[in-house]
Amino acid sequence: MSDKTFNALLLEKDNDEFSASIKPLTVSDLPEGDVLVEVAYSTLNYKDGLAVTNKGKVVRGFPMVPGIDFAGTVAESSSPDYKPGDKVVLTGWGVGETHWGGFSQMARVKAGWLVPLPAGLTLEQSMGIGTAGFTAMLCVLALEKLGLTPDAGEVAVTGASGGVGSVAVAVLAKLGYTVVASTGRTESHAYLKELGAAEIVDRSPFAPSKRPLESARWGGAVDTVGGEILAALLKAMKPEASVAACGNAGGFDLPTTVLPFILRGVNLLGINSVMVPYDERVEAWRRLAQDLPLDALNKAMEVAPLSNIKSLAEDILKGQIRGRLVIDVNA
Ligand code: NDP
Repeated sequence: MSDKTFNALLLEKDNDEFSASIKPLTVSDLPEGDVLVEVAYSTLNYKDGLAVTNKGKVVRGFPMVPGIDFAGTVAESSSPDYKPGDKVVLTGWGVGETHWGGFSQMARVKAGWLVPLPAGLTLEQSMGIGTAGFTAMLCVLALEKLGLTPDAGEVAVTGASGGVGSVAVAVLAKLGYTVVASTGRTESHAYLKELGAAEIVDRSPFAPSKRPLESARWGGAVDTVGGEILAALLKAMKPEASVAACGNAGGFDLPTTVLPFILRGVNLLGINSVMVPYDERVEAWRRLAQDLPLDALNKAMEVAPLSNIKSLAEDILKGQIRGRLVIDVNA
């Protein structure tokens, strides 16, 4: 296997000159790790869009193979946990940022970063979920841990037609929540209804206001946008309600006051999908296989070839990708 040639998207920097191109590599080029995986699918996440277009300082060293997640079949393993032929999924751990990632036909990683392909999902479906969907489930689990139940009333999902948002809408709807999906795209309304949203709102309920608190509307929230939208959510949470904040598609700033926290007991739950312990990852994937309806997943995902990755990376940064984009690394 050591001299096998395969293709990967390679990001390079030469005297500050950035390039991204699909190149032939050999297995011996891959970084160290105890499991060699024949990658079938990766996905395009917002972070991948930043990496491939050289924005946002996602990539920590060059040359780099981006792709923060992948699913595939073990080709070689020196770990007792995996053997050739096992189907595996990887999200996080700096893969595609500090360690060569999934926009490649082969990847070599640490066994501890992998989880077995969850029962009931194909490799393609697991990447239909990918890091974005995994993060959506971490948000749901965090909200449940703080006591969210369907009788809490309306639960908001912002950036709803994006990858995280789409999966959050579908999972929460399946679990019986009254999901209010916020989107800036009118063309996504029918899609979000199909995923199970009870109501669609534009971004106007989350417009900036000078008032430190608004009428308490939301029983819970998943926020993928950050910035003014997260600030507006916090102002309108019901007493003791929680927001799971995982994204910054709309900005890094959080122009809020302490009043939602000290007058309403609102909880702001930070979600980081990168360094999740093994047992929690397995549980999140088990819940995804159980609580994400496959018909919703099929509506939310499309498959595109790795050869189109550069223009798709531009599209996701412009908010033009709906749902989840699976990348076929062999096409
Ligand atoms: P997508 O690009 O698929 O979705 C983001 C959505 O946010 C867009 O579809 C759009 O939704 C909305 N949006 C984009 N720009 C703006 C804006 N300026 N103002 C308001 N809304 C906007 O990305 P993902 O779903 O993959 O990721 C969402 C966020 O979560 C990203 O910031 C990403 O970095 C983060 N993330 C964090 C993780 C973690 O571990 N914490 C893991 C995975 C993702 P619409 O068109 O419906 O309005």
